[in-house]
Amino acid sequence: MKKWFRFGLACLLLLAASSARPQAMPLSSTTDVQRIYNRLLPQIDPIRIYDNHSHATFPDDSDMDAQAAPPDESSVLRLRDTNPEFVAAAKALFGYPYDDFQPEHAKWLIDKKKAAEKAGGTAYWVSILDKLNIETCLANRVALGPYLDPKRFHWVFFVDSFLFPLDNRDQTGKNPDMGVYIPLQEKVLRRYMQQENVGGLPADLAGYETFVRQALADNQKKGGVAMKFEVAYFRSLYFSDPPREKAEAIYAKYHAGGVPSEEEYRTFQDYVFRVLIDQAGKLGLPVHFHSAVGIGDYFSLRNGNPLNLENVLRDPRYAKVKFVLIHGGYPHTLEMIWLTAAKNVYTDSSLMGYYVYPSELKNILKQWISLFPERMMFGSDAFPFNDAVGAEETFWLAARSARTAVAAALAELVAEGAFTEQKALELARMYLHDNAARLYGELK
Ligand SMILES: [Zn+2]
Repeated sequence: MKKWFRFGLACLLLLAASSARPQAMPLSSTTDVQRIYNRLLPQIDPIRIYDNHSHATFPDDSDMDAQAAPPDESSVLRLRDTNPEFVAAAKALFGYPYDDFQPEHAKWLIDKKKAAEKAGGTAYWVSILDKLNIETCLANRVALGPYLDPKRFHWVFFVDSFLFPLDNRDQTGKNPDMGVYIPLQEKVLRRYMQQENVGGLPADLAGYETFVRQALADNQKKGGVAMKFEVAYFRSLYFSDPPREKAEAIYAKYHAGGVPSEEEYRTFQDYVFRVLIDQAGKLGLPVHFHSAVGIGDYFSLRNGNPLNLENVLRDPRYAKVKFVLIHGGYPHTLEMIWLTAAKNVYTDSSLMGYYVYPSELKNILKQWISLFPERMMFGSDAFPFNDAVGAEETFWLAARSARTAVAAALAELVAEGAFTEQKALELARMYLHDNAARLYGELK
């Protein structure tokens, strides 16, 4: 009798335990979250990172980006020179002996970096990746740069310049930022024409299309693993689907001179954009988009909203093209993760991961993990802010923020009963490494 009672009690307890587990709860105890976080973080730190987006560079290398900072940029709080986290970064990476960036102190850091640049070779930037436990890093640049080891840094090249072959007088005159951006696009286009041995603009659209397709194929042969649009800085991310004849007529009218109207230029660009996407599909090159807020006083939030791309992302003709919407579409992060519901659409946490503090990044990552955890990737958007605070320090800030934020997001979800700690670590690996490695064909 006693035995049966004990057995029954055990069954009841088991039943209670198993029925309590699978139901996720909206609240959890903060001590539980802290305890789980303390267990997860030391296991997340050793995960080798696959960085989906960076501008690894020395500060004086103009190939770091196809565009320059706008003339009168205003910066978010966390990225101002006064952020003490940059001092922490310099201490962690280089043993920086000071507690501020007073010019006479910053000189210590600048000298160290100048010496590394002068020494040449690829060891310096590999050592930065090693210190941060970053295995592979995509470098979004005009050209890769002789100081970046192609085994560790993979090239993502720019394609916006192909959209600006005509007389850009009206584009450049739109505002002071465009006055800086567009001449740089013209420069990149000239570089591509030189690369392809094209003396001047081809006589017809067919010739121009051949040039564009060939340049993409050659960039891939030179090691390019993806192509990147930062076109949200220059116009809307909404691309219509004009018939070829329209683009052909506009090209014929203006390729040798004359300023196209706003509508004509837009139509021409919408057509060339689709040639680029089509060729990306044929070459198996993932397509990156800047889709988020942007720097400068004239950046249009409306134009940069990733929802503008929906007609392209959901177009069955491009079902095989892999679209990578970088910067999480910030601040449209919820719309962003729903755009990744399509199997060929991905996003990353670059830029926003250092725009906001880890407490807020945690909230975004928690939402993403809860919806489509196989579509989200880490990205640093490492970039030099000045001669002292370089891409090195921003790599550090982005990597530390992401590791702690994802640990916190997962700790909350485990404490709420969403899944186990083992599953949490699997999700952390997907975000920090595996999803990107799989996307670029390095992992089955
Ligand atoms: Zn970037």
